[in-house]
Amino acid sequence: MLYRRLGKTGLQISALSFGAWVTFGKQVGRAQARDLLALAHDRGVNFFDNAEVYNKGVAEQVMGDVLADLRFPRDSYCVSSKVFFGSAENPLPTQRGLSRKHVIEACQQALQRLRVDYLDLYFCHRPDPDTPIEETVAAMDTLIRQGKVLYWGTSEWPAEAIHEAHRIARENHLYAPVVEQPQYNLLHRERVEQEYAPLYEAYGMGTTIWSPLASGLLSGKYNDGIPADSRLAQPGYEWLREDVLGKGDERLGKVRALQLIAAELGVPLTQLAIAWCLLNPHVSTVMLGASRVEQLEQNLGALEVLPRLDVAVVERIQRAIQTT
Ligand code: NDP
Repeated sequence: MLYRRLGKTGLQISALSFGAWVTFGKQVGRAQARDLLALAHDRGVNFFDNAEVYNKGVAEQVMGDVLADLRFPRDSYCVSSKVFFGSAENPLPTQRGLSRKHVIEACQQALQRLRVDYLDLYFCHRPDPDTPIEETVAAMDTLIRQGKVLYWGTSEWPAEAIHEAHRIARENHLYAPVVEQPQYNLLHRERVEQEYAPLYEAYGMGTTIWSPLASGLLSGKYNDGIPADSRLAQPGYEWLREDVLGKGDERLGKVRALQLIAAELGVPLTQLAIAWCLLNPHVSTVMLGASRVEQLEQNLGALEVLPRLDVAVVERIQRAIQTT
């Protein structure tokens, strides 16, 4: 495994990490979750990502049960949660958002479900237009001072709001966000590469990036339709199907062009796509998702492909995603 600093913090995080979205508590029960976490930890993965909203808290419960069962030393891994969407079926106004009340209560609930005493990373899952940023920054600062959270961050906040959080933290001597959690993959680059560029420079922020395979699209599995056992066939994720596949054939054309490059290198497209994310030095960790052990095995192999992405290969990749 390769380890990278989480931005300018002293935390060494594995360059490949593992997240529970969609899978834990829906496609994957406790036994499979145990196999996935055991494999990941065995290969040096030291960060497991979660959120209050993932399967309405069940993903955290499954992860917590499995972590307790596997008895990994607590100092050998990091675990996260994210607050904003709520975990209730139809959240009441106090059960969602980034108010002090919900941030503090959601943290408490995540600690219980994950069966840990503190969260290593705690993210604001989206910006909350109905809460002053001051209130959220102060709530995160409180959690850090109470020892319930070690580092806090944002997820998909506009750069402007992150600047504002830093200004508030600096002026009031509060802990500032140290990490962003954005989507980043071969088909989705703008925010990480352009919008956030000033943040790395100004504050040394790290990133834990999500959907490196664009929910599986960058495996090539959706080239000829939607396999019945795949993520985009899951009931309740029709919105995701629309988001991933509803943009015409242009994206599938890019996937096919990328597949040719991967085939010439003799590697699966998944490994090429994941390794490509790691070429960006501002990516602290690529969060992998997997519904099967074989997928995780394959995706962890991306580290071996990384040294093969030389200038010529990267230029070909660039042309494939620009012109097809
Ligand atoms: P990916 O884009 O890698 O998608 C993962 C899915 O792709 C798997 O569940 C599987 O779906 C399919 N897949 C993975 N590997 C393979 C393979 N080798 N061959 C074929 N299919 C494969 O990552 P995620 O979208 O899961 O994102 C990773 C993590 O990031 C999440 O688990 C979550 O923790 C976090 N996240 C954060 C968000 C945020 O807003 N902050 C938003 C989304 C995710 P299947 O087998 O079901 O088809």
